[in-house]
Amino acid sequence: MKRHFTSAVDQKPALLGGPALRDTPFSTWPIPKPWMMESLKKVWESTEWGVGAPVIDEFEQCWAEYIGVPYAGSCVNGTEAITVALRATGVQQGDEVITSPYTFIGTITPIMTLGAIPRFVDISPDNYLIDTGRIEEAINEHTRAIIPVHLAGCPVDMEKVCAIAEKHNLAVIEDCAQAHGAEWKGRKAGAWGHTGTFSFQTSKNMSSGEGGAVTTRDPGLADGIFAAKNCGRLRGGVWYGHEHFGTNLRLSAWQAALLLGQIGDLEAENNKRHENAIYLDSLLDSVEGVDAVAVNPEGVTHHAHHLVLFHYQAEKFDGLDRNEFCKACRAEGIPVGEGYVPIYRQGSVSEFSNWTYIKPVLEQRGIDYSKEMCPVAERISGSEGFWIHMGVLLGSKSDMEAIAEGFEKIRRNASLLKNQ
Ligand SMILES: *Cc1c(COP(=O)(O)O)cnc(C)c1O
Repeated sequence: MKRHFTSAVDQKPALLGGPALRDTPFSTWPIPKPWMMESLKKVWESTEWGVGAPVIDEFEQCWAEYIGVPYAGSCVNGTEAITVALRATGVQQGDEVITSPYTFIGTITPIMTLGAIPRFVDISPDNYLIDTGRIEEAINEHTRAIIPVHLAGCPVDMEKVCAIAEKHNLAVIEDCAQAHGAEWKGRKAGAWGHTGTFSFQTSKNMSSGEGGAVTTRDPGLADGIFAAKNCGRLRGGVWYGHEHFGTNLRLSAWQAALLLGQIGDLEAENNKRHENAIYLDSLLDSVEGVDAVAVNPEGVTHHAHHLVLFHYQAEKFDGLDRNEFCKACRAEGIPVGEGYVPIYRQGSVSEFSNWTYIKPVLEQRGIDYSKEMCPVAERISGSEGFWIHMGVLLGSKSDMEAIAEGFEKIRRNASLLKNQ
């Protein structure tokens, strides 16, 4: 569908002193809802603010039910949810854990904290998710687990991941920090793997400022999750019995109260995001050189659209590079981001590489993160990928039109912008 743009796309770019295409804000996130004050007030009145508060149990039960598993354990955040899942799994120092290089650092910090070794499998250019066809190449005798990351709310092909894991006797920990309610072939993210981890940090599709959860179908893992986040205690055990290694990573009642009420809104909000993402994708047919990525892929029966991922072709923009494009978009009032740096290039990973008990292990196995190369992740990260946060997808159709017009305005002015 070719679309007729308004004359705004032919005006001087805002970066060069012209009028911004958009001077009103897009819808923002999180959304404060009146019932939240009521829920917080109830917690306040109850004086049950922490461990043992009924609202925490209720949230855990409702979350487990929503995901379609028997158990969910809440915890402080999505990073520590992965720590909890790794501990419950029994991942030890020196074990290798396979994951994507195109993700938030919180996916791998827990691996490194435990002294385990992250191994990176490149992403697919079709959806920026781990390339499931290349996972097996990375498996060796040290491999213990795979962490597929459902980036942007788009589930990884979990049938493939689970089949590989079963064949090689590996644990699957789904990083669902961006995928609340997402489904692969009718089953929810977080219900496919041995465990699934969630974040309820401010920017996520459900938010209590900070917060996390771990889901599982396995009663043994449920015990492990409970212990790992609750000072090593047994479910139903005595208060001063610390039978396992575990620390205090518990969620508070305040957070649980905010999250409990949001479960009911999630589906409708994801649907609204989907509708707008599909519409935006259709508008981009008229903007040469920018495509939305994996908006409606096969196998995905529910997309959580935490981000809209885009693919950018500089050659269609007179060679204007991706970073300049993003800068020009932001000047127009379109809040795009350049996306992730491949995480093996972060200082966090080079520091880890030099820890006294890690360095010899990496040397022995020939792992050098400074030389690590996932060519697709490098390309997407360096010059072809960018994104927009899901908050804007809760806005109107005309918001989507403004985004497409913003891109088109930059395209028409690309040579001016390039030679500024
Ligand atoms: C947000 C996020 C995390 C970490 O969650 P926090 O609650 O911020 O600790 C982990 N993985 C991914 C993919 C994320 O987006």
